[in-house]
Amino acid sequence: MERAMINERTPLYLDYQATTPADPRVVDAMLPYFGKRFGNPHSVSHPYGWEAADAVEIARGQVAALIGATAREIVFTSGATEANNLALKGVARAYAAKKNHIVTLATEHKCVLATARRLEREGFRVTYLPVDKAGLIDLAALDAAITKETVLVSVMGVNNEIGVIQPLAEIGRLARARGAFFHTDCAQAAGKIPLDVEAMKIDLMSLSAHKMYGPKGIGALYVRRRPRVRLVPEMDGGGQEEGLRSGTLPAPLAVGFGRAAEIAVAEMDAEASRLQALRARLYERISRGLSGVRVNGDLERRVPGNLNLSFADVTGENLMLALKDIALSSGAACASASKEPSHVLAALGLAEAEIESSLRIGLGRFTSESDVDYAAGRIREAVTRLRTRDAADAAPETRARIAVS
Ligand SMILES: *Cc1c(COP(=O)(O)O)cnc(C)c1O
Repeated sequence: MERAMINERTPLYLDYQATTPADPRVVDAMLPYFGKRFGNPHSVSHPYGWEAADAVEIARGQVAALIGATAREIVFTSGATEANNLALKGVARAYAAKKNHIVTLATEHKCVLATARRLEREGFRVTYLPVDKAGLIDLAALDAAITKETVLVSVMGVNNEIGVIQPLAEIGRLARARGAFFHTDCAQAAGKIPLDVEAMKIDLMSLSAHKMYGPKGIGALYVRRRPRVRLVPEMDGGGQEEGLRSGTLPAPLAVGFGRAAEIAVAEMDAEASRLQALRARLYERISRGLSGVRVNGDLERRVPGNLNLSFADVTGENLMLALKDIALSSGAACASASKEPSHVLAALGLAEAEIESSLRIGLGRFTSESDVDYAAGRIREAVTRLRTRDAADAAPETRARIAVS
């Protein structure tokens, strides 16, 4: 089989939910702002500053256009982690005298859950809604959870582990009708599915450039201006970004983020169809003739670049070891920075063994058909080999059972 890799030691990259490489067009757009156009965008007294400021404002417009917002509603941050922190803490603290309750989802990214936990320690009340076995929110449960005390509903657009798409427009309608602000972490959704803050009644949205072929180190928080959402800033300083995020804007990163958003707008539809076909091919080739393959999360309401599978009768650690030539992720405890099994897969009701044997396969802009064929072949091979080996180690009666099945 052809190895669709750069060389023997560079694994094939199938971890596009962890990060994406910057698109070469993004890098080209950024380079001048590391060089000749190095000015501080907040310098108002000379052309170095004006040039950088103009570029930042163009980028702000490009990011806004991706989500149907206006440029003035975009606050640049260091990424989605900071944007999520600013959204949750900022809103909670600004309205603390009136309301003290937040509703979120059990499957949110750690940076939302950890922020919510901190707010609980500060005296706010937080409801963590469960998801169904496909990973989707129960709108009736959301409706029941919102009270007159609820200041904010925070539900992610697309899950980073299982790729499922939450019904943002329905959530927005509910939150708006009940007088709560709606924040959504769209780090995995932006550039992959159409987003419109007006149609979806979104008040705050977090974005991350490095999840959409932009540079690492920049993201944004969309903050609705009409009606205005108030926020208590986390950072004190020069009062940049309308006082919401002090600090010198990294103009090169902003330019790259803007270019990445512009490319996403132009290419989203075609790329989604291409990835949809690649994922179908990958799943078909892995599961053809292989029993005990489970898809984690709804397969239809899902971004096209994500596949999350569990394999019966193999251990995650062995599976990851056998697949060292492919860069991918697992929900297994050994594969996570926190050494805890995936809270997302646990929320779907998976047993520990199913979580331990899960693989997250992330496809993206630079994934080819031969990459998919290579990965499918290697995964099938590894699962089959591990099952045979484990069966050989097992008791004779188990061996006999596996041999006839
Ligand atoms: C990656 C990611 C984040 C964190 O984004 P950074 O820009 O790396 O801080 C937050 N939420 C989701 C859903 C993500 O996928």
